[in-house]
Amino acid sequence: MQSSIHSPVVRVEHLSKVYGSAEAMIRALDDVSFEIGKGEFVAVMGPSGSGKSTCMNLVGCLDRPSAGSYRFADVEVGKLDGDGLALLRRQFIAFVFQSFNLLARTSAVENVELPLVYMGVKRSMRRDIAIGALQSVGLEHRLRNTPAEMSGGEQQRVAIARALVGNPLLLVADEPTGNLDTKRSNEIMDLLCALNEERKLTILMVTHEPDIARFAKRVMLFVDG
Ligand code: ADP
Ligand code: MG
Repeated sequence: MQSSIHSPVVRVEHLSKVYGSAEAMIRALDDVSFEIGKGEFVAVMGPSGSGKSTCMNLVGCLDRPSAGSYRFADVEVGKLDGDGLALLRRQFIAFVFQSFNLLARTSAVENVELPLVYMGVKRSMRRDIAIGALQSVGLEHRLRNTPAEMSGGEQQRVAIARALVGNPLLLVADEPTGNLDTKRSNEIMDLLCALNEERKLTILMVTHEPDIARFAKRVMLFVDG
């Protein structure tokens, strides 16, 4: 019990990220340190431009830090090359964004199958896994529909099913309710809370809305990187 609490999924120490060079340098992240343990649900809040998305991109292994250390599940991310980063992402990290990033004219079940194709899962197994993921987000009646035929809330559920299908260690969600009304936002947050509690899914979520951050169990506030 103790060891699971004390072995973090994310361990960030003195992390900095600088964009540009010389006279046009922007310090987007300035000496940030934090840990996220397995099964935690953490929200990141802060004003526009404070470095939230930069931090998500680093924690999600989409980008490498300029300085400091980031250990994901005890792997030093700054030491990996592009292929190493991609491998880590594909195996262990899933993303949900404000814009749902689905293929608009491809059925829900095919959208959810896509990560399994990249993971090398056999065609004969992909369909069943994708259907199971769509069932777990309450969309078993919408398998053949395309995102173009769905509401925003339903599209975000498809995106969450797609994120879950590879059984990730960490879910990174950048403004997941940013395009949704209050009712749909609350439904999506209830779903994320259930995934966190029932599957012990570790979640790091950015939001600028206090009502949304309240669903998380811990809130980190960003100011000027
Ligand atoms: P937030 O998500 O909190 O709004 P960001 O992490 O997107 O903040 O941005 C932090 C700072 O870094 C801002 O000043 C932004 O303009 C700058 N920034 C973000 N991404 C880039 C980039 N790819 N190139 C240059 N500057 C960037
Ligand atoms: Mg942002």
